[in-house]
Amino acid sequence: MKVFITAALTIDLGKERWECAACGHDLGSARENYKKGLLVRDRAPEEIHAPILDPARYEFTFAPDGDWCRILEYCCPSCGRLAEVEYLPPGHPPAHDIELDIDALKAQWAKREPLAAPVLGPDFVAPPHSHSH
Ligand SMILES: [Zn+2]
Repeated sequence: MKVFITAALTIDLGKERWECAACGHDLGSARENYKKGLLVRDRAPEEIHAPILDPARYEFTFAPDGDWCRILEYCCPSCGRLAEVEYLPPGHPPAHDIELDIDALKAQWAKREPLAAPVLGPDFVAPPHSHSH
């Protein structure tokens, strides 16, 4: 069964593999960082947050300083879908931001039906508990 972890990422619980939610491309072991299976693009932050003030006249322009902040975009190597964006100091390794207990996730989903699309917050209704008393 495939479960949505984010809108862009699923885990195939049977195979214990991260997959692209858009195209199903295998992104690696679900017990490791999903970013290992994605392409990464190191963006200059001023490309994304354009200066508000004239950079020729002002040292600080409200654009993030590229010497202190980089914006990393992670994309599926098969379909190109953007899976994650993170802001890090230059040279910092990719953050391991999602580390799941795969065995607990398997137990949690053992009696659930797979979802066709990701759902969030109050839209998600967990199945009722089966009490054995
Ligand atoms: Zn993909």
